[in-house]
Amino acid sequence: LPGMAHVCIHWFRKGLRLHDNPALIAALKDCKELYPVFILDPYLHNTQVGINRRRFLIGALKDLDCSLRKLNSRLFVLRGKPEDVFPKLFKEWNVTKLTYEYDTEPYSLNRDEKVTSLARKHVVKVIYKISHTLYNIERIIEENGGKPPLTYKCLQAIVQKLGPPKKPISAPHLENMKDVKTPCSEKFEEKYGIPTPEELGLESTSLGEELFPGGEQEALRRLDEHMKKMAWVCSFEKPQTSPNSLSPSTTVLSPYITFGCLSARTFWWRLTEVYQGRTHSDPPVSLHGQLLWREFFYTGSVGINNFNKMEGNPVCIQVDWDTNPEYLAAWREARTGFPFIDAIMTQLRQEGWIHHLARHAVACFLTRGDLWISWEEGQKVFEELLLDGDWALNAGNWQWLSASAFFHQFFRVYSPIAFGKKTDKNGDYIKKYLPVLKKFPPYYIYEPWKAPRSVQHAAGCIVGKDYPHPIVQHEQVSKKNIQRMKEAYAKRSSNSNESPIKEKGVKRKALSVSEMPQKKIRKE
Ligand code: FAD
Repeated sequence: LPGMAHVCIHWFRKGLRLHDNPALIAALKDCKELYPVFILDPYLHNTQVGINRRRFLIGALKDLDCSLRKLNSRLFVLRGKPEDVFPKLFKEWNVTKLTYEYDTEPYSLNRDEKVTSLARKHVVKVIYKISHTLYNIERIIEENGGKPPLTYKCLQAIVQKLGPPKKPISAPHLENMKDVKTPCSEKFEEKYGIPTPEELGLESTSLGEELFPGGEQEALRRLDEHMKKMAWVCSFEKPQTSPNSLSPSTTVLSPYITFGCLSARTFWWRLTEVYQGRTHSDPPVSLHGQLLWREFFYTGSVGINNFNKMEGNPVCIQVDWDTNPEYLAAWREARTGFPFIDAIMTQLRQEGWIHHLARHAVACFLTRGDLWISWEEGQKVFEELLLDGDWALNAGNWQWLSASAFFHQFFRVYSPIAFGKKTDKNGDYIKKYLPVLKKFPPYYIYEPWKAPRSVQHAAGCIVGKDYPHPIVQHEQVSKKNIQRMKEAYAKRSSNSNESPIKEKGVKRKALSVSEMPQKKIRKE
């Protein structure tokens, strides 16, 4: 009814922030009571999620609650499946409006559909807003004739037409809250408190140092720090950054963007300010360019069926990957016998973040390079261990690295020995994460099995006893795997006639996989 003051739930899922949160601002419009809610969903927030990510979530929720308190409000944390939780809340609080940030993941879309239909039954108005991505992803697909762009260039051309992303909006101020109350009962902490580490199954003994604490304040502080380094920002070129520096050579804003502690649009516009009037790098290698990569893979994830799988995924090369639990475990547990690979996997497990090119190295090694194991297996391990684990970006990048989609130069294989040496001759990164090898001379540190017995003795590390032998012979297996990849590609060209992308409500002639690249090239 016009003029009616609402009792509103703003549902935080991702988007754990107050800045650039249009759905939250929509919640405050004509609002007399606001209930900011987060739901610990057993599907999403279970113990399969790595400990670092669970710790990050607690930090992000604490920070959000702290910011809401400053607005005389609180964060209500509930437990259970959203479709079970909401009907009770709608009744108990006499809710009339529900707001949330739009989420394109299949699980989220399904969940939100269920909750929206429950809201309708309870006569609750639902408003959602787009703020997790730079653009409305559906708009990009529409602009491309109803299909997701399959090359970065094509995406660039579309976003050029769409113009720059929307400017971020400010966080609500006390002024916006003057007519709004958040009723809190005495039992608030007991009923709605932030989960404790114990509740999320975190034991302090298993946790390492918290290098990237969760939360919006921390995200904005880190963003500020980076933006102060104007020369660095302007000259940033991703391929020139190092996968094995001892401290990160890129921003590490990814966990904050994944959880929505930082808005991608805020990041974009802060970069624009820094670039203003200065010579700067450009996409795809610049920081703007990195954010567009994110947009690229999000668009694919929305427009391509079964995006996180090989089967039923029309842009993905169908490969007869091996099932090899032993190799997979060796990779996951950092005991492949290749120090560069094992150091990266150790950093991933301990710290929850690794550099993009380090991801390249281990992803190539697991799949088409050495172990010939499906990228879906790697995707699962990353999903568990990465702080920035993101459904769309993880799936898209794994397809890229395994040369299953988007990138097709499968004959270009990363060497698990030579690649790391380019930026770290001494092997300091290896020494940091694999202290068992720290006394090896630089000459042997990437290939300790080649060291004479006397050198191994002097280093206090015998290969085969203190550190494993390499599980494969890189030179041999990589050659064989290139051949297998060639066959998979040949097969694809001979039997590709299914429609590659989802119908998106736009009338169009469905393209076959083999037609797509030609069409695309013409378009560019
Ligand atoms: P910066 O270089 O500082 O870039 C800034 C931001 O741009 C990042 O925070 C991120 O949001 C975005 N970005 C940068 N590179 C990419 C890229 N290649 N694709 C999409 N977005 C990008 N990134 C995730 O956020 N979540 C994932 O689950 C994920 N899985 C990956 C799996 C594999 C196999 C590979 C090769 C890459 C994956 N990436 C993923 C992409 C990329 O490695 C990370 O986004 C990046 O390393 C994060 O570090 P940063 O914040 O310092 O990046």
